[in-house]
Amino acid sequence: MPLVRYRKVAILGYRSVGKTSLAHQFVEGEFLEGYDPTVENTYSKTVTLGKDEFHLHLVDTAGQDEYSILPYSFIIGVHGYVLVYSVTSLHSFQIIKSLYQKLHEGHGETRLPVVLVGNKADLSPDREVQAIQGKKLAESWGATFMESSARENQLTQDIFIKVIEEIARVENSYGQD
Ligand code: GDP
Repeated sequence: MPLVRYRKVAILGYRSVGKTSLAHQFVEGEFLEGYDPTVENTYSKTVTLGKDEFHLHLVDTAGQDEYSILPYSFIIGVHGYVLVYSVTSLHSFQIIKSLYQKLHEGHGETRLPVVLVGNKADLSPDREVQAIQGKKLAESWGATFMESSARENQLTQDIFIKVIEEIARVENSYGQD
């Protein structure tokens, strides 16, 4: 019997960047046009990676801005984060920087398992954020970066597999399971 590990992952970012669409695409395998703004939603999916099984519990949040105070429930008991901005919104990219800062402080400045995602890559002609900007920001945190499209199902699976791997990487660097 493989060991099933529980992983809680919060999806954070400015509103309308595609947080719900990414979670929905990952869990249900479809893109919903014009989905309702999220209050807070949770999704669960079991993911097998090699010999291990992970019970992934996703918390899809309502969206944050520069004034948001992060509730404890986004800090305590959360193993990893998917931070999402839209490549068509420089503002959403700037919000990510302040969000990361708040998470980092909330976690006592330890290294955080984070995947930084530039979503809506299918809208490249309307780009306000270049891929290199996302890559550099993620590098400055020691995190993983990827661009995705929930609409075209581009890398949506990879994001959530990557965050499980990031959690394992950070845990191993602290020598615990
Ligand atoms: P959230 O508020 O961050 O959860 O964003 P939603 O998932 O509700 O998406 C906001 C809007 O952007 C919706 O109209 C989606 O259909 C659209 N959207 C989400 N992801 C993508 C994407 O990858 N490409 C395009 N073109 N539109 C997207």
